[in-house]
Amino acid sequence: RSVSSVTIPPPACMLLPLEVPNRYLFGPGPSNVPPRVLAAGGRPIIGHLHHEMYEIMNDIKKGIQYAFQTNNHMTLAMSGSGHAAMECAVFNVVEPGESVLVSVNGVWGERVAEIAERMGSQHYSDKVTVCRLQALAKHKPVLFFLTHGESSAGLAHPIDGIGDLCRKYDCLLLVDSVASLGAAPLLMDQQKIDILYTGSQKALNAPPGTAPISFNDRACHKMFNRKTKPVSYLFDMTHLSNYWGNDGKPARDYHHTGPVSGFLALRESLAILAEKGLENSWRHHKEVAEYLWKGLEDLGLKLFIKDKDLRLPSVTTITIPDGYEWKELLAYMIKHHQLEMTGGLGPSIGMVIRVGLMGYNCSTSNADKALAALSDALKHCPKRKA
Ligand code: PMP
Repeated sequence: RSVSSVTIPPPACMLLPLEVPNRYLFGPGPSNVPPRVLAAGGRPIIGHLHHEMYEIMNDIKKGIQYAFQTNNHMTLAMSGSGHAAMECAVFNVVEPGESVLVSVNGVWGERVAEIAERMGSQHYSDKVTVCRLQALAKHKPVLFFLTHGESSAGLAHPIDGIGDLCRKYDCLLLVDSVASLGAAPLLMDQQKIDILYTGSQKALNAPPGTAPISFNDRACHKMFNRKTKPVSYLFDMTHLSNYWGNDGKPARDYHHTGPVSGFLALRESLAILAEKGLENSWRHHKEVAEYLWKGLEDLGLKLFIKDKDLRLPSVTTITIPDGYEWKELLAYMIKHHQLEMTGGLGPSIGMVIRVGLMGYNCSTSNADKALAALSDALKHCPKRKA
């Protein structure tokens, strides 16, 4: 018997057609992708180093500059999800042994602290906003991380003033806007954010898998004057800046094969945001969120973030109603309404149900659908506890 003969047969599932349900994705992401963006992602593949692709990447850069409100030249999209942008930011600006200060308001701060720890940096967590000034002075971090839209808690963290504080202590400000970009006001340059990233699959409504990121001159100075190479080859900004035509060199060399379809879809989702206008998009998310919050309260539900001004308009957290098993409520809505909401994440697991109405999904008619599904689930799911 030859060693090259096939011993593993084709799997039976592969001989069946692909099945994908049509669902309302009203959780914290991914959100539903509008037909125009899906169609863009379905256009023919071209080479990642063809000149037409460079033009599309240039458009994406401009689209991100608008969405982030930045003039930063060092703006691009990561080949990877939001985590790729998180790691890219930390890997490139921090060297082993340097310290990073992380504001932990939910799971994302915890993740960044872990990324910093894995690459051998000292990290300090700071849960309390009032401690921040002392913590900056005490630990002399090179980077301070804050999540703008903390999707695990449903919190929109204020940003104003923090950039000035970081400059005073010669520290870079890194902000995560994966869950908030396009939904809540954020102005990278004016708010003195040194590094900002987001994801494709939330209010931008592109498929998951690409992540816009931008570095200002302070961040570029730090990352391009380091003594050691970043731990990741794939996320090394010396290479990525060349791939995105940002390093001033005449040619772009092969570094990795970018997700061509993902970039086409991202370009289209950024175009939709540019057509709609950021201010309109922010206003629209706020209005629909307020409509949803009122509807939830009318159902007798409690919102997890009490202060309206601190609530994230894109992802609302509902305190799990007394007596109910949250998993049963979610399963009921998927089964009977084809509608996804999710439970908590990290520290908020077992505390909240999360509803996200983002971008294309953000409408009062979708809020009504979410409210009807929840109300139905509350009627039909048993109360397990007194
Ligand atoms: N940051 C925030 C605030 C998020 O909500 C998410 C995704 N839920 C991420 C980062 C990570 O993004 P991804 O799942 O695309 O890696």
